[in-house]
Amino acid sequence: MKIKKLVMIPGPTPVVRSIQDQMGRDTVAFGDPNFVSDFKGLLEDLKKLWKTEGEVFVVAGTGTMAMEMGISNTLKAGDNLLIVSHGYFGDRFIDLAERKGINVDVLSSPWGQIVPLEEIEAKLKEKTYQAMTVTHVDTSTGVCAPIDKIGEITKNYPEMIYIVDGVCSTAAEPEYIDEMNIDILLTGTQKAFGVAPGLAIVWASKKALARKEEIGRIPEYYVDFDKWLPIMKDTSKYFATPAVNMLWALKESVEIIKEEGIENRYARHNKNAKAMQAALVAMGFELLAQEEVRAVTLSNAIYPEGINDVEFRKVLAEEGAVVAGGLGEYAGKMFRLGHMGNIDTHDMVSAIAAIERTLYKLGKKDNLGAGVTTLLRELLK
Ligand code: PMP
Repeated sequence: MKIKKLVMIPGPTPVVRSIQDQMGRDTVAFGDPNFVSDFKGLLEDLKKLWKTEGEVFVVAGTGTMAMEMGISNTLKAGDNLLIVSHGYFGDRFIDLAERKGINVDVLSSPWGQIVPLEEIEAKLKEKTYQAMTVTHVDTSTGVCAPIDKIGEITKNYPEMIYIVDGVCSTAAEPEYIDEMNIDILLTGTQKAFGVAPGLAIVWASKKALARKEEIGRIPEYYVDFDKWLPIMKDTSKYFATPAVNMLWALKESVEIIKEEGIENRYARHNKNAKAMQAALVAMGFELLAQEEVRAVTLSNAIYPEGINDVEFRKVLAEEGAVVAGGLGEYAGKMFRLGHMGNIDTHDMVSAIAAIERTLYKLGKKDNLGAGVTTLLRELLK
């Protein structure tokens, strides 16, 4: 019999039926009054839930395009950008910005740790930066940056644009745009929103919008805020065809978030992450991210002695759970397990049990049940 495959990679995450149903609806004209009103309501909710007086742009594309949109609209060639990088996705901003003639300085941490706040503060004192990027959760390391504390520091630099990559955090880790002094928050739909890949979401504070006005015309066409602003203000207008069904799917995801309560959603992710991480440790894995900076959206688990990465992930897939491999220097040494979005207790228990069966089949026979027992104990606390 064919076994069900749970997608437990850190995005795309499992898509619940009610969201799938929206993708399967008959597509309508983008001028359809019901669609225009659905799109408008979605944008209002996104601004309200992420607490900004600024704007939100929802455009077909992935997280990388959202990164490009954030950078292109707030920086021009010759500007200085400080990149705070906690891994592979933090580093992605380097090439992206350098191609645009932006001068880049990078503060990096060893994988699993964060750049100390004092280091960021010292760097900002050294030189004038027009913008700074911070990746809230770097998916390569499972590290969560203290974006609120960094936001406090940025208050001393009122001219600087604070860009937060929320691709692996938004809708799971608290992000309050205006309160945290964030100017650009960017994400995609395929992770903690629990929607299929395909939409980029970029929030822009009033300060970010003012910066764009100052910069004026930019070389990029598709991601230019000025092209999209009229549509985000009046969803009956056209610039480039909106992804009708994907926008409905995102709207359904936001309805699920509202029903759960966004604060409850943050708390649920926190509790689930603690339980999943305790279960992984109980099964003999070591977690890459230091405990104080561990993300709630995924776990990056280093293999115990004697476990081969390719074999582990192959057997695990046969047991019904798909996880992702390690990146960079951790390729072959760890796997990455997503636990964000609309996954529930069934998914978590099944994933941990599948990992236990896999370890057993690979010769680690002593500890069977330790993962599930730990998971349940933590979840029932
Ligand atoms: N930033 C982070 C933190 C990510 O995890 C990812 C994707 N894993 C990206 C950016 C890039 O997003 P996408 O793959 O949707 O282009």
